[in-house]
Amino acid sequence: MSESHPRRHVAILGSTGSIGTQALDVIAQHPDLFEVELLTANNNADLLIEQALRFQPNQVVICNPDLYDRVAEALQPRMIKVFAGIESVCDLVGSPDIDIVLTAMVGFSGLRPTIAALEAGKAIALANKETLVAAGSLVMPLARRHQAPVIPVDSEHSAIFQCLQGERVKPSKLILTGSGGPFRTMPAAEMADITREAALNHPRWKMGAKVTIDSATLMNKGLEFIEARWLFDMAPEEIEVVIHPQSIIHSMVRFSDGCVMAQLSNPDMRLPIQYALSYPYRLPLAMEPLDLIRTGCLSFEEPDLERFPCLAIAQSALKRGGMAPCTMNAANEEAVAAFLEGRIRFTEIPEIIQKTLDKAGFEEKPDLETIYSTNFESRRIAAELIAR
Ligand code: MG
Repeated sequence: MSESHPRRHVAILGSTGSIGTQALDVIAQHPDLFEVELLTANNNADLLIEQALRFQPNQVVICNPDLYDRVAEALQPRMIKVFAGIESVCDLVGSPDIDIVLTAMVGFSGLRPTIAALEAGKAIALANKETLVAAGSLVMPLARRHQAPVIPVDSEHSAIFQCLQGERVKPSKLILTGSGGPFRTMPAAEMADITREAALNHPRWKMGAKVTIDSATLMNKGLEFIEARWLFDMAPEEIEVVIHPQSIIHSMVRFSDGCVMAQLSNPDMRLPIQYALSYPYRLPLAMEPLDLIRTGCLSFEEPDLERFPCLAIAQSALKRGGMAPCTMNAANEEAVAAFLEGRIRFTEIPEIIQKTLDKAGFEEKPDLETIYSTNFESRRIAAELIAR
């Protein structure tokens, strides 16, 4: 059975980052199926200009207003409208000629534009996990109210999403896999001396700096644990984390009859990106096919929560609920930035996050305004702890 994929008009928020550039790579492989309507970037004006000249969107946004003149000068003569500031992203993302919005910006700053896209009823290809971590209890009902599908791009959640296709009942368990990062086997005593360079050198995945550090601390798996809770409406007790160093199985689901479904491929983010853009269709993708004989062994182990406390912190923040995950996410963003700037040690990242959680206020049912103020206040607390 085969039917043809409709032509889709795509907005890419964060087009110059790792996910954004790979999404454009996917789109370039199917020029007859995808049309780029909107590209946005924070600071990388040169790459944004290059992408816009190549993909000819109607509109671009450069979030940093200082770079507006440069982008406008390059693109306006080519009939591409240029805007500045995050508010412009929120205004443009709902425009009627956009079918699907890929949210590929980093961190909490993705929340506002994602909400704007959902309120306009746009399909979301969700790559910005922090949106669901900070505000999943508000974002998912909003998506349902506006009948806006939320399709995961994160490889684990894409795997689960793919395993659930055609199923009529909820699974009894989600099994999130993770590579364990570059320090999976490092003795605890050596972890305080981990350098920025070592932490940025992920064994399996090539990604942006924030998610690479999160992968090294296992906070990434913690964020994904929370993301899975909201995307698939599963209780924390129904989600399990398994370390799988080969990164061939991208996650699994178990059903009440004991059947476990897994999605396998070589690690390449273009697959989940393309699936999110083409869903429910599948398109060819030029990538190395999985060779199981050459792969040989697939192994699994329990995550070590003593050496990687970030995962335990995330799990308990989700169980506590309310604004705890938002506070945790804010503190993590501050701590990761401080680590990348050489201001704190690797092992201080979880300490900063835990202390911020201990100090920050708590509300059981925060509204969106409370989420924004919690993010702001938690960052202030974390920054103070870092400065000490
Ligand atoms: Mg992931």
